[in-house]
Amino acid sequence: MTCHTSGDLQEIVDEVVPLTNDGEVADYIPALAEVNKHDLSVAVYNVRDNTCIYAGDYQKKFTLQSISKVLVLALAIQDRGYGYVFDRVGMEPTGDPFNSISKLETSVPSKPLNPMINAGALAVTNMIKGDSALERWSRIRDFVQRLASDKNVTCDESVAKSEFETSCLNRALCYFMKQHGVIEGNIEELMDIYTKQCAIEMSCFDLARIGAVFALDGKDPETGKEIIPKGIARICKTFMVTCGMYNASGEFAIKVGIPAKSGVSGGILGVVPERCGVGIFGPSLDKRGNSIAGLKLLEILADKNNFSIF
Ligand code: GLU
Repeated sequence: MTCHTSGDLQEIVDEVVPLTNDGEVADYIPALAEVNKHDLSVAVYNVRDNTCIYAGDYQKKFTLQSISKVLVLALAIQDRGYGYVFDRVGMEPTGDPFNSISKLETSVPSKPLNPMINAGALAVTNMIKGDSALERWSRIRDFVQRLASDKNVTCDESVAKSEFETSCLNRALCYFMKQHGVIEGNIEELMDIYTKQCAIEMSCFDLARIGAVFALDGKDPETGKEIIPKGIARICKTFMVTCGMYNASGEFAIKVGIPAKSGVSGGILGVVPERCGVGIFGPSLDKRGNSIAGLKLLEILADKNNFSIF
């Protein structure tokens, strides 16, 4: 695999970086507020020849936050099977914010609408197999290491702790779902695993590499070995299209048109089937929680390269 800087990519970064002035970094998790809001980096991993191009500070690390939801979903379906997972979590997009509790109460039966909102993601994390919280977290970390092909990928303990100590709303979602039989077990243990999975740290290059695995329907781009069964990779990509970009997923499908998942850290994972994986980091967020410059960057990139799957 070869990796080099790209003048073309850098031109797009330079064009959109002023947009970082118009957004804000997430601060409801205190540790996330400490980043520089003008950071912007991108990597594109081409699965056809295993080359990677990048621009900006591509080695800068950031936490996955909600991007982890799509990865843990892939592991949960492998652990439990399709029926078990989707008996407990729905498949429908929601126009509500990612941390909304309102639909949990009004949906009958009471189950989260999809695995990309916090309630659904917490339920999915609860499904990961293991004899202890440590084993369940370790299995998630090891899986992400395989996707990124990087044995050093792990969580940023300080970001995990910062979220763990302030996650009242996510705890409320968990207790509501426990009452309704959607999840079981110890909620503090679940919060420990969930905040660690959200705090998994990597560079935009690692993220692009993960995108490459999805672009190949779950196969490792270098070894050709299956990491995620094809049918499960397909389910994950479909959720990325329908609910990957919060309540801006519809607009994103029209303007960019690829499976993608963003996180409040400012990361975006993009997947162009059979072509490439894209990793972006730009922590200045728009009102709906997506990287403000990252979105524009992806829009320009998609337009120039005819990325849309539609
Ligand atoms: N850890 C974050 C939370 O649960 C993830 C949110 C996100 O990235 O959308 O609030």
